[in-house]
Amino acid sequence: MPQLANRVALVTGAGRGIGRAIALAFAAEGAKVALTARSVGELDKVLGEIRAAGGTALALPADLSDRSVPSKVVGDVERSLGSIEILVNNAGVGSSSMPRPVIDFDDDFWDLSLAVNLTAPYLLSKAVLPGMLSRRWGRIITIASINSKVGSLHGAAYAASKHGVVGLMRSLAMEVANQGITVNSICPGPVRTVMNEKRLEYDSQRRGIPIKDLEASLNTIGRRVEPEEIAPLAVYLASDAAAMVIGQAINIDGGLLMTG
Ligand code: NAP
Repeated sequence: MPQLANRVALVTGAGRGIGRAIALAFAAEGAKVALTARSVGELDKVLGEIRAAGGTALALPADLSDRSVPSKVVGDVERSLGSIEILVNNAGVGSSSMPRPVIDFDDDFWDLSLAVNLTAPYLLSKAVLPGMLSRRWGRIITIASINSKVGSLHGAAYAASKHGVVGLMRSLAMEVANQGITVNSICPGPVRTVMNEKRLEYDSQRRGIPIKDLEASLNTIGRRVEPEEIAPLAVYLASDAAAMVIGQAINIDGGLLMTG
């Protein structure tokens, strides 16, 4: 029996990287998956992959930095697929598009980072909760970061938003734990995606270390995490089997934080 048979899931930032891997894994486990991001071409590609494998999916292009959008996306998904049972807050703005020390930080980039990484998960969670509460079943999973636990050099907005979102998820977990809804975060270390590619380039130039050597020194394992290595934990947290896992922020980082 597939672990997520007929569950309705919304995965944000599902056009590429970690979100794509989670959307594909959810569909393979029988979920009906709504995909959202801004890039229509990327969404259509993932939609095609899911449908080609016999799965059910829906693509909804949306810009989550606009605070009127999250409730609209949830409404559109619920009208098409039914009440959302699993929300994955994955869409994110990385530190690398504008890395700067705080003294020189760009205020608009600060606002954008908080809007997408913190406010959108808040508004999306708020919008899916009535349906989850009425069914007394729900899963909210947020892709946070190791920068939810340690700082990010020249990436203060990223670290602040990722620390904040874990606090939001822990608080929400306390509110709904006895109503069949679990809320958890996954905290990846560097993952091989477009976002992390840019960060590696920045750190490689800043430190004068070739990208290959930098990657090998990132963690204890000596390589970046693959998006497909994040997805199985998301599937588990979304499943019935994880009913007792509440308010956690679980690292997948190849041993990066373990060594301090
Ligand atoms: P990615 O490849 O850059 O993908 C980010 C996704 O978010 C894309 O689908 C992007 O689509 C979407 N997105 C960005 N801004 C958006 C907006 N305003 N509205 C709607 N969608 C938006 O990055 P990733 O590495 O897979 O990151 C996924 C999540 O993992 C992020 O929350 C990130 O912070 C977290 N994370 C990543 C790493 C890493 O090393 N890669 C490590 C720790 C945590 P569009 O651009 O088309 O909108």
